[in-house]
Amino acid sequence: MTGAVCPGSFDPVTNGHLDVITRAAAQFDEIVVTVMINKSKRGLFTVDERIEMIAEATAHLDNVRISSWYGLLVDYAKEQGYTAIVKGLRGANDFDYELQMAQMNQKLSGVDTLFIPANPTYSFLSSSLVKEVATFGGDVADMVPEHVHTRLLARIAERAAE
Ligand code: ADP
Repeated sequence: MTGAVCPGSFDPVTNGHLDVITRAAAQFDEIVVTVMINKSKRGLFTVDERIEMIAEATAHLDNVRISSWYGLLVDYAKEQGYTAIVKGLRGANDFDYELQMAQMNQKLSGVDTLFIPANPTYSFLSSSLVKEVATFGGDVADMVPEHVHTRLLARIAERAAE
């Protein structure tokens, strides 16, 4: 059986992430989308909320499961028996960072990273940009799934009232 880990912060999941997850799911028997926990950064959504949103958006893909992890990703991959990490590449910035990370992960563990070129329709998308645009009232409705959009607007309104 072939399996790969698709890691990220997914705060929240975007259509760009979903494009990569869907294409990765077509290449492997199983994909585990892993929300990486960053204790020093307060996200807009909790890890559980991020997982719920990914689960809803990938419910139609029966070889995709979701998890979270704190620590080195390669420790998780090895513990779970996954031999590959899949990442989306939006452009040169992603490449510079991801190449170094992939080489480090390979050296640490032997786990290889496979890259999927971003769909040009979504290559400008990042969770942080979507949040920033939405915070100032920009229309991001076609950049995230509808249920994520609803939760995003609600959370931004809550935070503004804090
Ligand atoms: P971001 O906060 O930048 O959206 P994440 O840490 O959640 O990023 O991203 C996880 C993975 O998804 C990374 O490999 C990243 O390159 C990839 N990714 C993020 N957005 C896109 C996109 N629009 N198209 C393709 N891959 C993407």
